[in-house]
Formats: sequence, C-alpha cells, structure tokens
Amino acid sequence: MPTPPSLRIGVVIVAAGSGQRLGYGIPKAEVVLAGRTLLEHALEAVLASGVAAHICVAVPPGDTALTAICARAAGTVPVTAVEGGSSRAESVGRALSGLEPGLDAVLVHDAARALTPPDVFARVGAALAAGAQAVIPALPVADTIKTAVPCSPEEQRIAGEKVSGTPERARLRAVQTPQGFDARTLADAHRWLESAGSDAAGITDDAMLVERRGVDVFLVPGSEQALKITTELDLLTAEALVARRLRSAAPAGKESQQ
Ligand code: C5P
Repeated sequence: MPTPPSLRIGVVIVAAGSGQRLGYGIPKAEVVLAGRTLLEHALEAVLASGVAAHICVAVPPGDTALTAICARAAGTVPVTAVEGGSSRAESVGRALSGLEPGLDAVLVHDAARALTPPDVFARVGAALAAGAQAVIPALPVADTIKTAVPCSPEEQRIAGEKVSGTPERARLRAVQTPQGFDARTLADAHRWLESAGSDAAGITDDAMLVERRGVDVFLVPGSEQALKITTELDLLTAEALVARRLRSAAPAGKESQQ
C-alpha cells in the first residue's frame, strides 16, 4: 500500500439510494454480499486505504441499520452518518456538510462500488497530494460507443432511434469512484449546484460539476473490481470477485484485495 498522502482527506460515501433496480425491496447499501452489506465492504476498503481522516456516509432517511454500521466502523477514523437526499447530488451535498471543517481534500465514493480496491483510493489521494484539484479513476472502454437521436415520424416504422455519431473509442474512458477534489473546489461546485436549478440537469457526476467550472480533471487507473453494483448480474459478478479474493487469501492466511 502506498504511503498515505500528506493531505487531510475526508471521504464521503453516498449510500442513500433505494436500490430499486436491484429489486430486493431494501436500500442497495444494505444488500448482503458474502455475509456483509455493500456498505461494510465499501467502508472496509476506505479504511484499509489509509487515506481518510474522516468518513461521512449519506444513508436513507431513518435507516437505523446503515447508521449502526457506521457507528461500528468508527475507530481511529471517525465515521458519521447523515440523512441523504432525493438525488445522488443532494446526498453528496449533505454528506459534505457532515464532514469536519478544515479538510484539504474530499473523495466522493458510491457505496454501490463496494469492491473498489484500497489501491484506487490511494492513487486518487496521491494525485491530489501531487497538486490535482480534481482526479478520477477511469478505465478504457471495450465497447464501441455511439451517440443516438430519436428517429423522425417517417422513420419511426423502422426504429425509435438512429446513430448520430461514433466518438473515437481510444479517447473514451469509463469513469468510477472515488472521485477526489480539493475541498474548496468541491464545496464551491456544490453551492453552485444548489442554486443552479435547470442548469444542473444532465450533471451525472461530481467531476462533471467541476469540469463545467473550468477545472482540469486528472485521470488515474481505475479497477475492474470497482464495478457499480446495479443489477442482479452485477451482484453475481461481485459474488464471484469476493469468492476469488477469499480463495487467494486462504493459503497464505492473509487477505489480498488487488
Ligand atoms: O442509483 P445509483 O446506482 O446511480 O446510485 C449511485 C450511488 O449514489 C449509490 O451508492 C447510491 O446509494 C447513491 N445515492 C444516494 N442518494 C440518492 C441516490 C443515490 O446516496 N438519492
């Protein structure tokens, strides 16, 4: 594990989603994977990375189970819970307000990316320590990606949409979390977001928020293990990943999260 960065870093974990697409009828962060909830997996990785001075988790309003998990995880690193909002961005904003004051940088992480290896947190922290105002983990994409537009009324008998362009695949990146930011840059961006109204439509991650404000966003390597657990198929993949980790940890008697 690389040396923890010299900055004081707060980590926001957003875990207030409903998990509707997973269809378990419970918040996604409460879904159990190999005996532990997604939130517990996510907290374990953040703590193992050694980057966090404080962790604040946005949980669904009134969720006592996830709040209790935060309380249990607290130790040398404080772990607090706040009630999330009706959108991911609102949950991030609320968790930012729950972090201790005076931090140099903040990492924003989705609980849904529960198996993100500690090394990814360390890489993001190291890039912030090296001077980045914003840094995100990313991977090259395997698929060719097209942009699409709705078909004209005459074309509707053929299909609903047609291709409007093909971005060059070599330049495309699939981005993950944790996304890291200079603390003031992120706080300013979220203040703008709160007052932006319809201007904020279509902003899908925190990096996009600071990109709009002209901030350079640096890329560090992400991890295939940092997949966002959204569907039943993702959960099956995640179960296979945990099983592989346990198998590779067994003979040597120590856990490997590479
Ligand atoms: O729903 P989706 O998978 O895009 O959510 C990404 C992350 O944002 C999840 O970890 C989810 O718990 C979180 N979220 C949140 N508050 C919301 C919606 C999503 O904290 N209102």
